[in-house]
Amino acid sequence: MSALTRRNLLRASAAAMIAPALLGTARRADETADVLVLGAGLAGLYTALQLAEAGASVLVLEARDRPGGRIRTLFDLPGRPEAGGTQLSSNYRRFVGLAERFDIPLIEDSPMQRGGAPELYIALRGATILPDRWAGHALNPFDGPLAGLPPWALPFAAMGCENPLPNVASWRDPAFAGWDRSVADHLGWTSDQLRLGFGINPGYGASAYSQSALMWFQILKAIAEPDGRLLTVENGNQRVPDAMAEALGDRVRYGAAARSIASGTDGVEVRTMDGGRYRARHAVVTLPTSALRTVAIDPAPPRVQQRGIRSLPYNRVVRAYFVPGRRFWEEDGLPPSIWSDSYAGRVFALRGGGGSEITMMQSFITGPAAERLDRMPQAEAMGLVQAEIERIRPAAAGALRPAGYVSWGNDPYAGGAYACWAPGQITGFADALARPHGRLSFAGEHTAIRARGIEGALESADRAAREALAAL
Ligand SMILES: Cc1cc2nc3c(=O)[nH]c(=O)nc-3n(C[C@H](O)[C@H](O)[C@H](O)COP(=O)(O)OP(=O)(O)OC[C@H]3O[C@@H](n4cnc5c(N)ncnc54)[C@H](O)[C@@H]3O)c2cc1C
Repeated sequence: MSALTRRNLLRASAAAMIAPALLGTARRADETADVLVLGAGLAGLYTALQLAEAGASVLVLEARDRPGGRIRTLFDLPGRPEAGGTQLSSNYRRFVGLAERFDIPLIEDSPMQRGGAPELYIALRGATILPDRWAGHALNPFDGPLAGLPPWALPFAAMGCENPLPNVASWRDPAFAGWDRSVADHLGWTSDQLRLGFGINPGYGASAYSQSALMWFQILKAIAEPDGRLLTVENGNQRVPDAMAEALGDRVRYGAAARSIASGTDGVEVRTMDGGRYRARHAVVTLPTSALRTVAIDPAPPRVQQRGIRSLPYNRVVRAYFVPGRRFWEEDGLPPSIWSDSYAGRVFALRGGGGSEITMMQSFITGPAAERLDRMPQAEAMGLVQAEIERIRPAAAGALRPAGYVSWGNDPYAGGAYACWAPGQITGFADALARPHGRLSFAGEHTAIRARGIEGALESADRAAREALAAL
């Protein structure tokens, strides 16, 4: 009789409830745990660590063959460049705490912005423009103070003034719903101005018409936290999720892509593409909505939550890596990095590991250019990026050896780099996306309220772990 604990009874009744509807056959689940965590990115790993520490049995189901999700370091390339989440802040309290816990050093570094403006020049409509020539240039569509700013600084300057949000969490307060309109509507700029500030190399969304002003206000509040020093992980950001996964040991299952989730009053069953069946009393789903779209959820979440899962856009990002065979920037005397309106996007000279030598040229391509590249075969896209760098910068011809190419938009388990709230979406479904549905909790960067990106993923794990423990 000792096996007939309340928990076992609950599990048995959950199995009985789910079996006829979903299993079709009487086959029992392959594995059980108190909680299933879907996804071994930062949100999933941090949720699982907290649950395991609280004494719950936990299984993490991860589609890829590695942990980290959108944190990925290209360990095999010179300088170990990042392919995913790159820049940390000393204000990322949870991430800094995890690095300390696993004894992984953080270094003060900003690999894509080293040297700031003087290192980057503008390649626009065939013209080569040094930042100090930009203010009065014929291609500059601005007058007044904005004319003095390079294109990459425009969104921050334009959206930074008159930020209506009193604090970093107030973007979710209905009192500010009126700002959930497009950046274009908010700014009232000309189309040339909008394209320059928000349409070429956009950080969020494809154009000023597809980015919510309210999202920008929250971003600016989040990055304006005082005393933030820019950091990276020594020898690669992925070391932190790698260490988290190692601590979880065989509780993380790789190659386990969820294809369906069924949730009843007492239990959850997840089926994976490789034929696995997993049961638990609760599940925490940390997939980006772009990946969650392909997973069947039964019963279906409320309509507003479904709308969010279906429609929240993710920014397309392509990163192409080239090893410089010679110092071509010394030949033409231009700054090594380029901000361009071409398929080369922004070309950053990377100095790996905080050193002073340029180890890699990296094209960081977003928005409409990334959309076009994502429609091409990868080898063709890589060739086009290289040809574009050589077209706008003839000194680079013959100096670049292709070394790597990562498309986040074409990655089926990411569907893009990070959530980009379109006008109306924050008020439409931001709260609903994070709401528990039956025996399911939802976490991940897109469900965070205060922090963004890397720290947002960890913030969401705190909440999801609390919800899961309360449900056991
Ligand atoms: C190019 C790029 C640059 C970035 N730059 C920064 C930056 O500088 N600073 C910053 O703070 N943030 C940055 N970010 C964002 C940051 O990396 C992410 O917000 C964060 O890593 C997301 O963590 P997550 O756990 O929410 O999601 P993910 O890391 O995406 O984790 C979700 C996991 O679920 C898995 N998965 C997907 N589908 C399934 C399935 N069907 N079954 C099982 N598992 C599945 C995925 O493989 C993944 O491991 C960047 C991201 C990218 C891509």
